[in-house]
Amino acid sequence: MRPTRLLRDVLGVQDTVVESTYQEISSEGGQRDLILRVRPRAGQRGRCARCQRRCAGYDRRGHPRRWRSLDWGTTMVYLEADTYRVSCPEHGVVVAHVPWAQPAARHTHPFEDTVAWWTARAASSVVAEFLRTTWRTVQAIVERVVTERAGRTDLLSGLRRIGIDEISYRKGQRYLTCVVDHDTGRLVWAAQGRNSETVLKFFDALGKERAQQLTHVSADGAEWIHTPVKARAPQAVLCLDPFHVVEWATDAVDTVRRDMWNTLRSKGNTTQASNVKGLRWAVLKNPENLTGEQRTTIAAIAKTNNRLYRAYLLKEQLRAVFAARGTPGRVLLAGWLAWAARCRIPEFVKLATTIKHYLPLIRNTLDHGLSNARSESTNTHLRVLTRRSYGFRSPEALITMAMLTRSGLCPPLPGRSSKD
Ligand SMILES: [Zn+2]
Repeated sequence: MRPTRLLRDVLGVQDTVVESTYQEISSEGGQRDLILRVRPRAGQRGRCARCQRRCAGYDRRGHPRRWRSLDWGTTMVYLEADTYRVSCPEHGVVVAHVPWAQPAARHTHPFEDTVAWWTARAASSVVAEFLRTTWRTVQAIVERVVTERAGRTDLLSGLRRIGIDEISYRKGQRYLTCVVDHDTGRLVWAAQGRNSETVLKFFDALGKERAQQLTHVSADGAEWIHTPVKARAPQAVLCLDPFHVVEWATDAVDTVRRDMWNTLRSKGNTTQASNVKGLRWAVLKNPENLTGEQRTTIAAIAKTNNRLYRAYLLKEQLRAVFAARGTPGRVLLAGWLAWAARCRIPEFVKLATTIKHYLPLIRNTLDHGLSNARSESTNTHLRVLTRRSYGFRSPEALITMAMLTRSGLCPPLPGRSSKD
């Protein structure tokens, strides 16, 4: 095997000729780095870095530049090449294309893909330490990888059933509007803001023709979503996302529990009050997720705290409505509304009014059997993401992260197929 072919394989790059190698004391001290002098293969020279079209040279003399490659064992490895500029009819004077890295990148493709793969799975600070780089570099690399991969795939093509939702990413009314494909569960679009203009921006990106292909749009009942959807995709059936409705019920149960706790506390009934406080997780969790102890707690509530137990049952019954779907779902919903309206728990009487207000949208959800599991899991993931200590300085950084993990834009590890 020719050494250059072997080196190319180990580096994980293509169309690259290794001219020579030398070692140099690392700028970080102590260790010696390995530097490989490289050049693009003949056919890859004199091309525009942006469109890879063959162009006239602009600079004759090259300037040496380095790209960090993945480590070889414990040694840090760099590629070094002379760079020069070309004059592209479309992009003007730009740096010539190199086959081992993206334009303006300071790291090779395999290094950048590795950073992106790890960042989808671990905190940026961990990735930075492991790969001997900085947190800031990790963020910049992820942004470039996501942008480049998003540019190659059209996330908005073939959309039929979508969910539009808001995610709070920081305290103080800061929101992202996210669009999820119900059929793949992918996040296909996200932008800062929570208003009609933001939704209209999505429809601008989608275009008129593709907006007309939408069959279902689900949301949480907000007018700022409904109005632009009706204007731009009037044929689409508007549905209410079941997980939002169940969330309303969960919030109502929590309010009942909190009121009870406050009442008990103000009466000086501290033992009972702390018992009710401890009920939080038992009454808010879905029954199938309850621990044995929590089941016992629920049974105890049934005996001693009729009001809270009824609130709990109302929430569970509402969940059952959406599990049933179709006509059985409609029947259950009618029963639920009758029950909630006369339950004498103000929170649920109010919820019944809200649900009646959205009845046509909820019936659409039930009739069209809109699968909610995928978009709910994306929604949950995004919420976890915003809470995790990624240190998002900007909504753009969060969008990048969300696109990396939820839009199918994460590259496979170098040298492996995406199935690995
Ligand atoms: Zn070009």
